[in-house]
Amino acid sequence: MTVRERLKLGDPRLRQRAAVVAAFELEEPAFLQLITDLIDTMRAAQGVGIAAPQIGVLKQVCAIEVNGNQRYPTFPEVPLRLLVNPTVVPLVESHDFLTENEAISIYEGCLSVPQLRGRVTRPRRVRVRALDEKGRDIDEVWEGPLAAIVQHELDHLHGILFVDRADSTTLAVPDEYERHVVVDERVVDGVRGSLSKAPRAS
Ligand code: ZN
Repeated sequence: MTVRERLKLGDPRLRQRAAVVAAFELEEPAFLQLITDLIDTMRAAQGVGIAAPQIGVLKQVCAIEVNGNQRYPTFPEVPLRLLVNPTVVPLVESHDFLTENEAISIYEGCLSVPQLRGRVTRPRRVRVRALDEKGRDIDEVWEGPLAAIVQHELDHLHGILFVDRADSTTLAVPDEYERHVVVDERVVDGVRGSLSKAPRAS
């Protein structure tokens, strides 16, 4: 088991675009090691997702898994998924405004932004295309918290962090989050909202 050091907010590598993984790389020991390290690091840190740049590898690879997670206790279980070169397309009417029931609002956190949560509103239904760790095509529609997680991880691959998209007036440290953000507000699936724009990574 290899738990890698996690990059934290302020490390410029978190702000870079990750490179597309070439087909031949999927067979290489370095890729298999990357997958193992991502899974081990995510699980050790109680994450529901992790992207390769968070352990200092600028490749378009991420892992997602929800299994009785203490940081997001209301999330439905998601078996381990690995995504290589993912693209995510929101399934919404308009890309500028999310109508009733098109958005999900979650007080997100991040393994690279310790001690901070903030409310992020995202499309609640997305089409995900990627390769899995064996190079097989994935083309699926994901909804609810899983849709939010994959958008958070995809952002990492483009140098974007949740704090770029969060309503800055909702940012909270753990004690105050527990004290002031009632459970019903932590995950609200099926709301309306405007899509927050994030700055483009260089
Ligand atoms: Zn994150």
